[in-house]
Amino acid sequence: MTAAVLKGKDYWTGPRRLLASKSPGRRPGRLPGGHIADLGDLRKAIILCQFCLPKFNSTAAGYVTKSNLPFVRGNCDGCGNPTERGHLLVHHTLANLR
Ligand SMILES: [Zn+2]
Repeated sequence: MTAAVLKGKDYWTGPRRLLASKSPGRRPGRLPGGHIADLGDLRKAIILCQFCLPKFNSTAAGYVTKSNLPFVRGNCDGCGNPTERGHLLVHHTLANLR
């Protein structure tokens, strides 16, 4: 918020606003399991690579995979590595499965 005041209206173009709203990800020192548990408590979408997916108990957390969008490209929320076929997990209350 301070940056918005300091930079002025001309600085905040569309791409810069998008970049500023991007999630900073897992903070240093935070374990991946705790970070994913935080995402789960907030019911946010979780992207996991093929190596991190077996480590997350998605049914216990209430997460499902949507059949029309099973894979996405992005950074894994567990290990942080970019993945071409990341499994997208969405909380079941927000999945709109019907
Ligand atoms: Zn991973």
